[in-house]
This record gives sequence, C-alpha cells and structure tokens, in this order.
Amino acid sequence: MKRVLAVLLSSAVTASSIISGPQCALAATNIRVDNINIGIGSVFGSADEESSGVIQSFFKALFGLDQGAVDAFIEDKTKEDDSDKAEKTAINESDKDKVYQVALLQSLTLGQYDGVITVEELKKHGDIGIGTYEGVNGEMIYLDGEMYQALGDGSVVIADESETVPFATVAYFDKDDEVKDVKVESLDEMKEKLNKIVKDNGSNQFYFIKAEGTYEDMQVRSELKQEKPYKTLDEALKTDQREFEYKDVDGTLVAIYFPEYFSTLNTPGWHFHFISDDKSMGGHVLDLSNFEGDIKVSEMNQFEMYCPDTDTFNDEDLSVDQSERIKSVEQDKQQ
Ligand SMILES: [Zn+2]
Repeated sequence: MKRVLAVLLSSAVTASSIISGPQCALAATNIRVDNINIGIGSVFGSADEESSGVIQSFFKALFGLDQGAVDAFIEDKTKEDDSDKAEKTAINESDKDKVYQVALLQSLTLGQYDGVITVEELKKHGDIGIGTYEGVNGEMIYLDGEMYQALGDGSVVIADESETVPFATVAYFDKDDEVKDVKVESLDEMKEKLNKIVKDNGSNQFYFIKAEGTYEDMQVRSELKQEKPYKTLDEALKTDQREFEYKDVDGTLVAIYFPEYFSTLNTPGWHFHFISDDKSMGGHVLDLSNFEGDIKVSEMNQFEMYCPDTDTFNDEDLSVDQSERIKSVEQDKQQ
C-alpha cells in the first residue's frame, strides 16, 4: 500500500503542476486520466478491495472526479487486464500448432544415441509423438499424453519419466480434420490416402495423424539397446533389429508428415509408429494391410528444434547426405 500511495503521489504532483486554473477543467480531466494511466499502471488491478477504496477516495479528493469517472476508469482498466489474459491464452494456443523436435533424424542415423532430454521434460511439449530412447532402446509411441516404449523383446512399457531421449518429434494433437470409415489395403494405399489429405490442407505444413481401427496385418520393428561405441543406425539394425507381426489387431497408427523441404532435419513424407489398443504391441511400422477405421488429422505450422549442445553432437559432421541411410533404416526388413 505504501508503494501504491507513493506512485499515486508522484502522479498527482505531475498532474497538479499541469492544472493551472478552472478554465482548463476539461483539458485537465484528460491530462489527469492520462497521468493516472501512465503513473499507476496496473495498481488498480493488483490492489485489494480496501486499497482500491482508499485510492478512489484519494483521487476523488485530489481532482474532484465524480464517481462515474472513477468507475469508467476502473472498467477500462479491467478490460485491459482481460485483453492481456486473452493474449496469454493465445500464446498457449499457438503452442498447439507447433512441432517440437529433439535433435535430427540425421544425427540419430549417424549414431548419436545419447539421451539429451528426459521423458518428463519432453512431455511438456505435446501429447503425441514418435522417437526413440537412450541407446535406441526401443521405439517411442507417444499417444494421448502417455509415452510408450516398444522394446526389442517385443514388450511395451510406459517409459520412465527419468528415461532420456536422443531424438523425438512431438506436438499437441488438435484435431483439424477427420475422415471416417476409411478402408485401405496396404501401406502404400495408406500413404496415398494421407497424401490426399495433406494436399487438400496444404503440402508445406506439418501433420500428425492418428489412424484408429483394425489392422488385418501389422508388421513392426524395434531394436536392442546399443552400447558404446555406437555404430551407425543402419549397421546396428543389421544385427539388432527385431521384427514382429500381428494379425487382426485393434490399434492406432501414429504418424508424422514433413514436407519435402525438410530433408536435412528429418525424413520428408510419412513416418509411422503403431500401438495396439491394449498397449501390449507396438513399434516402428514396416508394413500393414487391410485397415478399417477413422483417420484424425492435426495440422501444424510452426517448428521448434532442441539442438543438443554436447561434444559428441557438436563433433558430428551433419553435412553428410543421409537420405539413402534413412531410407534403409525406415523401411528395410532385416529378417
Ligand atoms: Zn520410427
């Protein structure tokens, strides 16, 4: 309250020194109101009821303002506060259109498997995503705010909050489009279907999709945890990729789409992971057939990347073209 009064007094002195006589009454009222705005800023907003009453009495006494003028000023101030709040909400809303990526797919394929962010921290950037864990210890499927780890032995667990992540892409799933009762026979046909959705919505944006339904056949892979010194991912997968095939499984395909111009940061086009409804089966999708279900689409137009500031990351030559290696690690069956 002392601070409030101090601010008020300094405003008042300025205002009083400007007011020279009764003939300036109208102009003076304007000056006073301007001064109050400049001088006390958000004091009304932060003052408690008792303080507000004192402030009002103080101004009425000082300037002879009527109650209507004081009320109008307070109402204006309240509106300003509300618009500030709306602006803050808008900033949070914009996070919903943002893709957050940890490192690059290119650094992962070169063997950068050290975890650089915890699961706990990563989860603050969205509720859907795909990626992997320290030492490529399994495939990440992040769905509806729960982060699953599909391990090399075929089991699926909920990732520990302290587990770390060398590469992932997450976002907030905010449904922008939905296609119901979709039937596709193959992975290629699924891509065609999704490409059409992307084309209709804008090919140069980013998309997460969920394809929820039944899959007659679902082929996924995971991999065994790697030990240092790390091999490149294509080399590691030659011996340590593990493949699993599931029949007539209900589940969700979680996929991200990046435009063609993203070829040095991730893989252009689609990257599919899968998790069954009972959360016992999942992994990186190698192939699928006969899907029946609904496709939900979330479009994003912002991208943020967390660039690991570690010696091993900084020593890596990321100018090497990884496109062939990425194609191999994305789709090759090893068994
Ligand atoms: Zn994957």
